[in-house]
Amino acid sequence: MLRNDDQLDQWDRENFFHPSTHLAQFARGEAPSRIIKGGQGCHIEDRDGTRLLDAFAGLYCVNVGYGRPEIAEAIAAQARELAYYHAYVGHGTEASITLAKMVLDRAPDHMSKVYFGLSGSDANETNIKLVWYYNNIRGLPQKKKIISRWRGYHGSGLMTGSLTGLELFHKKFDLPLAQVIHTEAPYYYRRPDLAMSEADFVAHCVAELEALIEREGADTIAAFIGEPALGTGGLVPPPAGYWAAIQEVLAKHDILLIADEVVTGFGRLGTMMGSTHYGLKPDLITIAKGLTSAYAPLSGTIVSDKMWKVLEQGTDENGPIGHGWTYSAHPIGAAAGVANLRLIDELNLVQNAGETGAYFKAALTDALGAHRNVGEVRGEGLLCAVELVQEREDRVFFDASEKVGARIAAALLDRGVIARAMPQGDILGFAPPFCLTREEADEIATKTAAAVAEVL
Ligand code: PLP
Repeated sequence: MLRNDDQLDQWDRENFFHPSTHLAQFARGEAPSRIIKGGQGCHIEDRDGTRLLDAFAGLYCVNVGYGRPEIAEAIAAQARELAYYHAYVGHGTEASITLAKMVLDRAPDHMSKVYFGLSGSDANETNIKLVWYYNNIRGLPQKKKIISRWRGYHGSGLMTGSLTGLELFHKKFDLPLAQVIHTEAPYYYRRPDLAMSEADFVAHCVAELEALIEREGADTIAAFIGEPALGTGGLVPPPAGYWAAIQEVLAKHDILLIADEVVTGFGRLGTMMGSTHYGLKPDLITIAKGLTSAYAPLSGTIVSDKMWKVLEQGTDENGPIGHGWTYSAHPIGAAAGVANLRLIDELNLVQNAGETGAYFKAALTDALGAHRNVGEVRGEGLLCAVELVQEREDRVFFDASEKVGARIAAALLDRGVIARAMPQGDILGFAPPFCLTREEADEIATKTAAAVAEVL
């Protein structure tokens, strides 16, 4: 159904409800519209033939890069053979069973089973339901609250939007729900007001958590959810010792740990899983984006041995678990996942994410490091951020209304590179596909420096 460009534009503004968009500005034609037609490697191409270097891999999800025929063919073959059958009451397909095995082979040893959903948001909804079910089966019906961190991102559903610790996702939606409580994010750079060393800041985060548990009562708290490295809230690797100290507190109070690996899972930090990278021993792991590199929607909840035993016991006592979507373990998504994980192995892409990531961070630091408005260049693997500040020495932050991140991202787009202005306004985010070359890394760094110089 191809239409001329003007008609497509009109249909777009008249019919299409775009997520995370200023609806009124878009309707009036004041906000940009860009129609994407193709992609290859780290580049996408819009309908005007403009080629852009995508330094955020879509929404940090096209990890193997665009235009991979191996995955496209696996999807087509699956669609031809069997486009759909459900996974309820013991049904499966070769693709979904194979993918479950491949996921467990890549997860920490103490994980036992994987449930497949469609998005990171629904996987986190599943997690919370499993945590509640688990505590009900254990005879602890009052132990239900979930601790999340300010600046955490866990989705935008009712529960997951509540877990997300960003005001934009709460405002006017009557969120967060009452069962969710938030604690300090491990974001040392943003807390100069505390005037403490990084080690003391970790102790501060732990003390905040302990105070929250004390206030609410450990017997009311079921789980703690966190991204191994903060994503949308700022792209912040945790300070040394943070996770070990947090896990000690959780264990002491019988609080489960949910590692949200939607961004970090399957290689982005230069190791297969973020949990392994930072020494987390989670009870549940959320996976999505990198599971299929976004070639098809698919997510998952990986369940630990400890929780699985109780879930099994629960069904002996209560009958089948009342949870599942029509599209759980959709065969086309599963086929995409299998082909994607194979490709990651065959092309050594996790290793490349680590090595090229280190090169990229160094290139960004060289290109930007001395600029008075660049407070910090940080990153781990291919997850990097540039922190923009009004005054570097005294660490004076920009007001969000100045939208410096968006202005620099726009100047960078004019130079043919897509970076992401992170929601709080003054952080420029980079999460390119794992096939990024050193030449492409240099190009992003040089053009970012030019964009920063133009705007600030
Ligand atoms: N968890 C994390 C860490 C994410 O970054 C995201 C999305 O960016 C989600 C969950 C939600 O995933 P989805 O957008 O697929 O619902």
